[in-house]
Amino acid sequence: MKLDSNWFVEEVGGLAVSIKIRDKVHDEQSAYQHIEVYETEAFGYLLTLDGATMLTSRDNFIYHEMLSHPALFTHSDPKNVVIVGGGDCGTLREVLKHPEVKEVTLVELDERVTRVSEKFFPELCESNSDPRVQFHFGDGIQWMAEARAESVDVIALDTTDPVGHAARLFSPQFYRDCLNVLRVGGIVVAQSESPILNLELIKNIRLAMAEAGAQDIMTLSFPQCTYPSGWWSVTMARKGQGFDGFREADAMRKSFETRYYNAKVHAACLVLPEFMQEAFREERQGFV
Ligand code: SAM
Repeated sequence: MKLDSNWFVEEVGGLAVSIKIRDKVHDEQSAYQHIEVYETEAFGYLLTLDGATMLTSRDNFIYHEMLSHPALFTHSDPKNVVIVGGGDCGTLREVLKHPEVKEVTLVELDERVTRVSEKFFPELCESNSDPRVQFHFGDGIQWMAEARAESVDVIALDTTDPVGHAARLFSPQFYRDCLNVLRVGGIVVAQSESPILNLELIKNIRLAMAEAGAQDIMTLSFPQCTYPSGWWSVTMARKGQGFDGFREADAMRKSFETRYYNAKVHAACLVLPEFMQEAFREERQGFV
């Protein structure tokens, strides 16, 4: 079927994801990127940066919950959290649901992403005035290089794809800076793209984290229907400690609502399919 101009089409790796649109409701070239928002027929609003899908109103909850809750329920006591990127504030909202979190710093390069999200995705920004939050609009690479050592428990890398401004957010040097900023037992969790389209990239992220000195590394996957291939992943690295399960009882009795994450989903997504196990086998021998 040939698509007409009523479709937003994102092509990656010989595969296209198409979302039917009604109208373009925002179009702006910020100092850093081309920000567009579309009203779609079935997925609410769609935010794109430089032509790449960032989120839709309808399915962003899966990504934001899976970038936040597995890492936060794996850490024994996450008090200080840093989010790099994530200007739409969806990850911030999820992190703030954890009552033990005392302070969250969101380091986003482009303030315009946050301002546009406040207008079109107010539900993601509903916790932005929480007194535990500090916004820092600037480069996450520089922020991490200058941050105080051993001052943070969880770092969430909610970044664009590894090109342009975000490319160095996937480098061993950046992960080294993250590990330096983490306390022992701290976790850095990165969005790590599609298991089926970007397996080499996931391997490279894991190798870069290992090279940076992570004690243990783990990749989790989940569905995300509007991202290329409809399947996505996050990769967690831990400082000075291995991954030995998660706070399952706390996750079962969580004091807040989620729409995708629960303790059983968490346990299930720790199981890797054969081709991912195979891809990580060689590298994992170094950790066991
Ligand atoms: N969920 C999205 C995805 O995977 O497609 C990511 C969403 S979030 C909007 C990504 C954010 O990373 C963007 O707002 C972008 O401005 C920000 N970003 C890119 N490079 C950055 C950097 N070097 N420091 C801080 N933020 C950065």
